[in-house]
Amino acid sequence: MLQNSDKFIIKGKDLLELQDWCSKKGHPKFRAQQLFEWMYFHGESNPKLMSNLSQSLINDLQADCVLQTLEIEKVSSSENEATNKYLFRTADNHFIETVSMVEVNRHTVCISSQIGCSVDCDFCATATMGIIRNLNTGEIVDQLNYIREKVETSITNIVFMGMGEPFLNYERVLKSADIFHNPKGFGLGAHRITISTAGILPKIKKFYEEDRKYKLAISLNASNDETRSEIMPVNNKWPISELVAIGRSHAHRNRKVMFEYVLLAGVNDSLDNAHELSSLLRGVDCKLNIIPYNETDGKYRRPDNDAIESFLAILSARQKGYRVMVRWSKGQDIDAGCGQLAVKQEPHE
Ligand code: SAH
Repeated sequence: MLQNSDKFIIKGKDLLELQDWCSKKGHPKFRAQQLFEWMYFHGESNPKLMSNLSQSLINDLQADCVLQTLEIEKVSSSENEATNKYLFRTADNHFIETVSMVEVNRHTVCISSQIGCSVDCDFCATATMGIIRNLNTGEIVDQLNYIREKVETSITNIVFMGMGEPFLNYERVLKSADIFHNPKGFGLGAHRITISTAGILPKIKKFYEEDRKYKLAISLNASNDETRSEIMPVNNKWPISELVAIGRSHAHRNRKVMFEYVLLAGVNDSLDNAHELSSLLRGVDCKLNIIPYNETDGKYRRPDNDAIESFLAILSARQKGYRVMVRWSKGQDIDAGCGQLAVKQEPHE
């Protein structure tokens, strides 16, 4: 079992940090690159198996560093077995979930960025946990390390849509995305990494200012501020108009934003809502991802198929530049669909 310790969590450190650590410990700088490749390209966490390192470096890693941050607690498989949910235990005895979805030419991994979440969206199961803490970079990276090792199909896409609000853990999320993107790390194209935010505007601005190449998804979830504030209190700070405006101003250069819209029966799924949404996005070169609600224990319901179809028909018929897609979540039978991740009961020791 993993132990909470005072050791240096070297897993998740980027190349500069590894160089810094190597020089402090008196190891040559080039060792940092080797270590980087062992941890991320090869996914190795046992220093003894890092065959090209010096013995003194291996000794230091063993004595002073944490190279494995998560331990698997449970795997749940959906009926068709293509979607699996992994429950991990952290060293300080908390639990996070990660979902792996294998399709014909695709293997998408949905990763968590926080333990719980503070954003408090009324319809989302993770919100019921409250926020426990941010994940460190090692814990974000190890979710992928584990799945890469266990699932035969190569990982093609990563979405930061698991537990937590990625932009409230901005630096670590971006650092881990950089590791996923690095050719000597996980080697995934930038457009294969999507970060989804509830709409933390200052961080969206930062993301663009830093010219980050990853895909950005913004959870709109309502067609007017009244409804959005009801279901997403974060709207009181950063309302719809500002989110759409920032999406609009960054529509160029092949970096289209994706707006997500969870369809909730009787809340945001009326034909008026569809018209309102269509007007909001008219002329915005973006994608619109409609997500029929995955039911949790709460008060919200998924609209029936007719209502979903009618809603879509309006948006598609009046399409003015944006592209509409529907995301039928996978793995609902194991509570692995969007917004169903919450560690219901922390397992016993
Ligand atoms: N905190 C981030 C990422 C996590 S959720 C965000 O808000 O974007 C990823 C997507 O799932 C979000 O668009 C969210 O609105 C949506 N979602 C949350 N609960 C859901 C549920 N029960 N059914 C369907 N989608 C849900």
